[in-house]
Amino acid sequence: MLIIKSITEMRKFLEMKNMRIGFVPTMGALHQGHISLIDRSKSENELTVCSIFVNPTQFNDPEDFEKYPITLEADIEKLVDAKTDMLFLPLVADMYPNGTANIRQYEIGFLNTVLDGEHRPGHFNGVCAIVHLLLNAVKPHSLYLGEKDFQQCLVIKQMITQEKISCEVITCPTLRATNGLAMSSRNQRLSDMGKVKAGLIYECMLLVKNNFSNESFEHLKIICEAKLFDAGFETEYFQLADANTLQPLISFDVNKHLVLLVASKLEGVRLIDNMRLN
Ligand code: AMP
Repeated sequence: MLIIKSITEMRKFLEMKNMRIGFVPTMGALHQGHISLIDRSKSENELTVCSIFVNPTQFNDPEDFEKYPITLEADIEKLVDAKTDMLFLPLVADMYPNGTANIRQYEIGFLNTVLDGEHRPGHFNGVCAIVHLLLNAVKPHSLYLGEKDFQQCLVIKQMITQEKISCEVITCPTLRATNGLAMSSRNQRLSDMGKVKAGLIYECMLLVKNNFSNESFEHLKIICEAKLFDAGFETEYFQLADANTLQPLISFDVNKHLVLLVASKLEGVRLIDNMRLN
């Protein structure tokens, strides 16, 4: 696997090659969910590039940034095992030569006012900034994103359209542990007991999915929030929304594509997950 550490090096490499490129941006601490995106990209492209960059501008909580797991050696091993062609590993100074304090502001609009947009001010602007910079550096034909970060997928697609970037976005399904817990780098910060308990988020989402034709969302939400509270979770949102727009909904409207989105903290670790209902 080729490891490229700067934008200049990346440009030189790309000048020499004329291949169909698939790109998987990550923040490292890789798990099988990330590898599933690599596998998908490998099956559809001639060259698969994975980036590892813990992007400082998307952390609204400094403690979350400080505690973000970094496991570079193990990550490289996993990428080699997955036969990834290239790892792009830039430094903060390379991605943000003018510093991180005054980055460009993107027009995120409505998506910045709901769910993670509302609860993590500045987060999606940082996501847009880094993905835009990475796309400019890697120039992929296809970008592979996980549906685990449902709102992020919509924000990035919108940014790509607004910036008229020619790149196809492929969203991939969420990989889960056997108890349903969505794989996430942040899960490493949970205790063994926490990892078991965290499966409750998936159980609650399933409860909603299995009962939405005969119960009100209001009722199911009360049951689920109580279950989560009793198990020690602090829930930020347990929200039904239109899957195309993320417009919040208070009741099931089967004429719409419905998605349930959850953000809840356990042992101080903020977990997000989602499930399409129909
Ligand atoms: P991250 O390193 O958390 O920024 O994630 C990098 C990419 O991997 C994003 O597109 C995520 O949505 C995706 N991803 C994270 N967790 C999973 C998962 N459990 N299953 C599939 N994709 C995932």
